[in-house]
Amino acid sequence: MKSIFSITRNKLEDYFLEKGEKKFKATQVFEWIYRKGVRSFDDMTNLKKETIDMLKEDFSFNEIKMVEKEEDELVKKYLFELSDGNKIESVLMVHDYGLSICISSQIGCNMGCAFCQSGRLKKIRNLTVDEMLLQIMEVEKDVGERISHVVVMGIGEPFDNYDNFIDFINIVTDAYGLAIGQRHITVSTSGIVPKIKLFADLESGVNLAISLHAPNNKLRSSLMKINNAYNIEEIIDAIKYYLDKTNRRVTFEYIMLKDVNDTDECAIELSKLLKGINCYVNLIPYNETENIEFKRSNTSQIARFYDILKKNNINVTIRKEFGSNVSAACGQLRAKVEGE
Ligand code: SAH
Ligand code: SF4
Repeated sequence: MKSIFSITRNKLEDYFLEKGEKKFKATQVFEWIYRKGVRSFDDMTNLKKETIDMLKEDFSFNEIKMVEKEEDELVKKYLFELSDGNKIESVLMVHDYGLSICISSQIGCNMGCAFCQSGRLKKIRNLTVDEMLLQIMEVEKDVGERISHVVVMGIGEPFDNYDNFIDFINIVTDAYGLAIGQRHITVSTSGIVPKIKLFADLESGVNLAISLHAPNNKLRSSLMKINNAYNIEEIIDAIKYYLDKTNRRVTFEYIMLKDVNDTDECAIELSKLLKGINCYVNLIPYNETENIEFKRSNTSQIARFYDILKKNNINVTIRKEFGSNVSAACGQLRAKVEGE
């Protein structure tokens, strides 16, 4: 049975029309579940009994269960159990501009990046729309506050779960759904080129981040298998297409791995690659992970790398770090609990 949290308002309108009912009922149902927080069709007192029975037959209220929480002042990390027993994680961060949540999009990930804990576990399955959405709703419930920003950068490759991801965005941004502005949402992809183009065609206000992590194909392929399918030139072409369509600045994420991709030469090569592209580079200090060899770059080398990009007129920031105490990098809490 389909979860009521998995359906967009448009699709629910179509459902009602097919059943010979008025489409505004979709908006009423949305108000009940997202505004008033009801968890049963029987509580939807402005719907007729027949409508309620029909909904009960076709839809369920799926749940995800919080099984573990680690927290300090600025970050809370949650582990959820899904109805089939699989586990996923979400991270809440407290910023001066509000609360942001990092959500997972798949169980495991097939991209197999060498430095990533999530990639160690092959993809088991995609998350459904409601499993993505409920991460936000459950964490909001836990902290008793509205979440203003969403990043899709947890476990999984969102563009490998594209259709569900798009429906998820639709509900998150719907004024009758979670009503979070498109510009407050960021999706991060390892670079699945055809999906970057499809996403560009939507001309959405959702921010796009690309995990680049290397300035040339040789190095990138050694870190990210996906580079054998879509190389740097193809990614840059897709980004140019995206910029033409949306005129929105993209972010390139660049993990700083000691003596691997953090040399001065890499910084110079990266500057050349990105010259003239409307972007900024986010340097991410690597979060060291058990059983993975890579080390975090020295702070002084991160600063040098930053300076070289700056001197070459590339917009660059160094990611603020959250939760080094709370297994912050993607996949780490899950790995700890499951003993991977
Ligand atoms: N699959 C998508 C989104 C999830 S990963 C992607 O790869 O973009 C989100 C980001 O976390 C990516 O940039 C990824 O490279 C980075 N990441 C993975 N493991 C990390 C670690 N141990 N420390 C810091 N960043 C990490
Ligand atoms: Fe998957 Fe992203 Fe991790 Fe690569 S970095 S294995 S794409 S989750």
